[in-house]
Amino acid sequence: MSSTMHGIGMTSQRTRDRMVQRLREQGIKDEVVLGAMNAIPRHIFVDEALSIRAYEDVSLPIGYGQTISQPYIVARMTEILRSGNPLGRVLEIGTGCGYQTAVLSRVAQEIYSVERISPLLMKARNNLRELRTRNVKVKHADGHYGLPDLAPFDGIMVTAGATHIPNELLQQMTVGGRMVIPVGTQEQTLVLVERLPEEFRQTKLEAVKFVPLLGGTS
Ligand code: SAH
Repeated sequence: MSSTMHGIGMTSQRTRDRMVQRLREQGIKDEVVLGAMNAIPRHIFVDEALSIRAYEDVSLPIGYGQTISQPYIVARMTEILRSGNPLGRVLEIGTGCGYQTAVLSRVAQEIYSVERISPLLMKARNNLRELRTRNVKVKHADGHYGLPDLAPFDGIMVTAGATHIPNELLQQMTVGGRMVIPVGTQEQTLVLVERLPEEFRQTKLEAVKFVPLLGGTS
């Protein structure tokens, strides 16, 4: 049975419509982001046993001690990165199961996504293949270093909690580019970094909870 068949009834377009309605109530306004989230079947990104909960506003386990981010935070970070404008090249750090990657694939031209846990990367690759996304490349690497060979990026989205903003990532932003990154250990804050011609402007946004950004690969 194809994984798109899982949890029949709870995985329909109507369930997704309700999720998007809730995102609106939570303050998400960007119609492009809402449209992307309405189109992507979130249930294929979680194990069959959890697919019934795929559209709840919670993060869920995806194995290897990692999680799929809750719909609200996926929408919010995508909305912040876009800032109402089409995105060109985007780097995501922390592919996980690939859900955020799939959302990005609908709002940007080219996506490069980096994951440090090899079996998760393979899961993500399968999920993205099932959706026939063509503008995404996933790579097995430690995201602290970004992807220098493919830089610069118009947008960088870090989906794990960093202790600090890695200098390598700052250097890989275009002028006019934007990065969203959760920073902090116990308490994390979502930070927006904008690269201006002469400086990097940092804006603290809201409190968030992510799994930690770790070093090395496994
Ligand atoms: N974007 C995902 C979030 C997955 S959770 C989603 O849509 O749900 C965060 C992911 O970041 C985990 O899979 C974790 O393994 C990965 N990660 C943590 N540190 C990393 C690093 N240094 N480089 C790359 N990936 C990392």
